[in-house]
Amino acid sequence: MRLCVAGQDGAVVSQGCGKVEAPTRARPFRAKPQMAQISAQITQILPAFNRRANCSSLSDRREAIGDICESICEICGFRDFAVALVVSESTALHQLCPNAAPTLTSIVPALMFRSLMGIKAVGMISGGLDSTIAACLMQRLGIEVLGVNFSTGFCLTDHQRLIANFSPADSKRRAKKLRNEALRAGSDLRFPVEIIDISAEYLPVVTNPKYGYGSAMNPCIDCRIFMLSRARKYMEEVGGSFVFTGEVLGQRPMTQHRNTLALIARQSGLGGLLIRPLSAKLLSPTIPEKEGWVKRNDLLDVHGRGRTTQMELAQAWGIDDYPQPAGGCCFLTDHNFARRLKDLLDHRPHAELHHQDFVLLKIGRHMRLSDRTKLILGRDQGENEYIERFLSAYPQIKPDSIPGPTGVFQGTPLSVDIELAAGIAAHFTAPASQERVTFSISGLNDPYTIGAHPLPPERIEPFRL
Ligand code: SF4
Repeated sequence: MRLCVAGQDGAVVSQGCGKVEAPTRARPFRAKPQMAQISAQITQILPAFNRRANCSSLSDRREAIGDICESICEICGFRDFAVALVVSESTALHQLCPNAAPTLTSIVPALMFRSLMGIKAVGMISGGLDSTIAACLMQRLGIEVLGVNFSTGFCLTDHQRLIANFSPADSKRRAKKLRNEALRAGSDLRFPVEIIDISAEYLPVVTNPKYGYGSAMNPCIDCRIFMLSRARKYMEEVGGSFVFTGEVLGQRPMTQHRNTLALIARQSGLGGLLIRPLSAKLLSPTIPEKEGWVKRNDLLDVHGRGRTTQMELAQAWGIDDYPQPAGGCCFLTDHNFARRLKDLLDHRPHAELHHQDFVLLKIGRHMRLSDRTKLILGRDQGENEYIERFLSAYPQIKPDSIPGPTGVFQGTPLSVDIELAAGIAAHFTAPASQERVTFSISGLNDPYTIGAHPLPPERIEPFRL
């Protein structure tokens, strides 16, 4: 059995037999330059501890762990509650698996030691399996985790949650599915998660990405660089020591190749202060590893698209509530959305675009009526309500007296556009029939009504985005 303590000298002590000697006097908490001294002191007492921890009796091992934790705490002048925490965790683990002693005894002092150093790391948390495992691993290595989650304005779930608010029947049905997974992960693992809205400053990343788009309109490389540079700023604000993510080498084609991971780290300004714990053993050593804040051997070597290792770890660590890895949670990877976005960028000067234009891309059916006008039709009660409530500044079309879609125009519709819009909207009214439907038009001088027969599908298709 080997017992490891992470420190500047990366002390490793081999096994023996004997009794732990308590240090002669408690010392106050040490700043980083004194870590080598502390590490040396802890190294001195470990051989005796190892001898005890190697005993066959479970209760003796448990007692030994308690003693070593207390001894380390005394050396570092640390607080009692941390002793209680670690002792109770190690005791619980022993009860679950008495044979876990060697692993456990190598974890506990290292965990204590790093906690004493007060190392905080900022984790980019989506709440998916990978970032949850990465955060849990950091915690198990004694790192204090501060989660951050960036809201780009293009998150599918955020949008569904918003629209569900306007449709009570749906919100009930979707309640579980639409929770914020980053907050859920933070709550389950008991670390704070800050959600930061970057939607306004993020737009140039979408309209003009330096590294181009993926298969849809997803500027993933620029997006990761942008988010990680924001994470770096956040790390500086909160006094974090480094940033970690749940990225896995080779899992995603665009951003998780070895070279791209390195490029993103460099361009974000984080460089060696960015660690990907799930694949760290396969990547170049980072500053946290070189400094001994985390030990390379404690990190993982996961690669590829499979999730077996992560799921096994989740089970072993008691993480049982996480979203199924399904992907597709970003509008920018959706090909239908990409068509609409491309149409927007083709028809409007980029400098004139603002956040609302992008919000509209997520709602309803989109019809390009002419170069000057686009029609957006609500698809359900939630979208109709959203259009009526929040887009009242735009010209609108709404069926009189029968259920149907509320539509909103972008641009300046001429009468020919409005007639066409009425024919299209009539097609989507319920019940669908060949009956003439009357619509109210608002937002263009004085309100008025217009009647139209539903257009057949083949007449509508060419306008659809
Ligand atoms: S999928 Fe969306 S959120 Fe994720 S990296 Fe790509 S652009 Fe960014």
